[in-house]
Amino acid sequence: MLRKRIVEIIESAVEKASAQGDIVSSWKKPLTGFADAADPLFTELKTAVRPSHGLPGDLLPGARTVIAYFLPFDPAIPRSNHRGNFSSEAWAVAYIETNRLIAGINDQIAGLLEQKGFRGTRLPATHNFDEEQLMSDWSHKHVAYIAGIGSFGHHHMLITDKGCCGRLGSVVTDAVISPTPKSNRERCLFKFDGSCRQCEKRCPAQALGVDPFRRHACYDRLLENARLHERYGLADVCGKCAAIVPCSFTDPVRSASRKKTENR
Ligand code: SF4
Ligand code: SF4
Repeated sequence: MLRKRIVEIIESAVEKASAQGDIVSSWKKPLTGFADAADPLFTELKTAVRPSHGLPGDLLPGARTVIAYFLPFDPAIPRSNHRGNFSSEAWAVAYIETNRLIAGINDQIAGLLEQKGFRGTRLPATHNFDEEQLMSDWSHKHVAYIAGIGSFGHHHMLITDKGCCGRLGSVVTDAVISPTPKSNRERCLFKFDGSCRQCEKRCPAQALGVDPFRRHACYDRLLENARLHERYGLADVCGKCAAIVPCSFTDPVRSASRKKTENR
């Protein structure tokens, strides 16, 4: 019941925001996943992300479940960001508006949990990272991976069944909600069969490649875009590697295997 209500809150907040006149951006139907707070993968984030990466219990003592969700952008937003070396206005505005939407959703989820006698965190969507190492002590995308929402692409973003163009939010709670079954399947074409690499070709900062991710080169580009769009608020974005590539709106590995089956 709680699980259903949480999914409803997320979906209805997205529908309302998409229809709201003073919000420019719109979103497709969200994806929601649930992870057991005791999942050993959370401890592995101390190696995979950074030693100080938090455990659910660090954010909320007595944590039992982590809720993660993906809000996919309306395709017009990535389309606007396809050309040129700098982020489109629509992409920058969508980032800011989605961060606000995530804050509202988290607030509503925490409110529901409190009504039912539980607790829930109100974590911000972003700007919770170490500016030197450019890594977060609570990585929503790694958390979303553990909650079964997607898998990592060559561009270091999470590819979900609805692609990678959108934003992620998460809530830690002490309510027990059964976890979403995890799928280890590969969704990135490069990781699956060595093909594609379109994200790499699209990156204006040459941050992607077979070498380790050039995190600082990427971040410099985000800051340039933040300056360009500062009249809207803080939009340290880029997204060129995500906009109009095979994984923008779908899981391209699954789509390719469906096509093969249909052509047989
Ligand atoms: S653009 Fe291609 S290589 Fe890059 S993450 Fe998407 S599927 Fe993988
Ligand atoms: S966000 Fe921009 S700079 Fe960073 S990897 Fe993607 S394309 Fe490159």
